[in-house]
Amino acid sequence: MFNRRLHLLTFSGIKIGIDLSWIFIAFLLSWTLATDYFPQVDPNLSYGTYWLMGTLGMLGLFTCIILHELGHALVAKHYKIPISHITLFLFGGVAEIKEEPKSPKVEFLVAIAGPLVSLFLVGFLAACGTVAKRLEWPLLVVAVSNYLAFVNMALIIFNLVPAFPLDGGRIFRAALWAWKKDLAFATRVASRVGAAFGILLILFALLCFFTGNFISGFWFLMLGFFLQQSASGSQVRFHLKQELHGAKVAQFMKKNPTSVQKGTDIASFIKDYIYTSHHQLYPVLDKEVLIGTVGLKEIRDFPEDQWRETLVETVMTPRKEFHTVTQEEGVLKALHLMEEDGVPIVLVVENERLVGLLTAQDLFKIISIKTGLKKS
Ligand SMILES: [Zn+2]
Repeated sequence: MFNRRLHLLTFSGIKIGIDLSWIFIAFLLSWTLATDYFPQVDPNLSYGTYWLMGTLGMLGLFTCIILHELGHALVAKHYKIPISHITLFLFGGVAEIKEEPKSPKVEFLVAIAGPLVSLFLVGFLAACGTVAKRLEWPLLVVAVSNYLAFVNMALIIFNLVPAFPLDGGRIFRAALWAWKKDLAFATRVASRVGAAFGILLILFALLCFFTGNFISGFWFLMLGFFLQQSASGSQVRFHLKQELHGAKVAQFMKKNPTSVQKGTDIASFIKDYIYTSHHQLYPVLDKEVLIGTVGLKEIRDFPEDQWRETLVETVMTPRKEFHTVTQEEGVLKALHLMEEDGVPIVLVVENERLVGLLTAQDLFKIISIKTGLKKS
């Protein structure tokens, strides 16, 4: 849930970024293309050309996935569903849609928009490949276009499997939702099918390993894990959102959290705070005004012989580098900001004065108690 995201660009108010896992995938993909796929298309090219093709193929796929996700995002935006980010990670992208769609029809339209963009790309790239071949352009252009047309087609087929949270799964959920008029039921069924499909892929990957097909096996294994994880993840998130819908920060925050005053040196901070209260993070205050946060992360790499003469405000994460909420804001917004900052804690302020602290852990605890109460 708390990923590391690298921001790339903003388009029509939608932030586009990559998850750090994508860098690994980008390398793996270029490598697979350069050493296996393109040499099979034409064995007579140079090593450098294969790597150039591999890199172009990877960058092309990267662009196609962004366009696919933009398809989802722009339709969602049209229906006034707030979208904050598009993040590319392991297998493609995720347009982070902050709210559940308002009706089965909207869910369907948002879900189908991505595959439609990909379908257009298949046509366009296949045409490019054909024209390039006819005009006898270098094989590089022909092969990369054809590869991208092929991989977009594969992306459509994979995405249309009715396994939530894939596009097909969203369409499936929309259909169930329209039929039963119950979004919770639809999400439960669609997520279960998603998780089951993930497990099926993992089994298929094992089969590939047994038959000596290691590269395919590896890809299927990762796909399976990804799908299994995100299917159960979206079930949990849906549940969370339902339980927390409309709840205010004030109901769940801890009042008067332990905080450190400006002017405290690191040695005293460790002795009086870290060793005694064991919190992950401490607000740093100038009287009552919040000026930053400090925790193990900030002092871990700081040389021990300078602890006495260094003050917390020199090592703290300054106020402008993290988000805060007010008591009147919704807890769903607070959760969202935690994800954005990559820290499972958000501070609650009133006119820059610290009034409380909200942790993801507290929210989860409250939800499990609420669910427990409902079942009994
Ligand atoms: Zn999609």
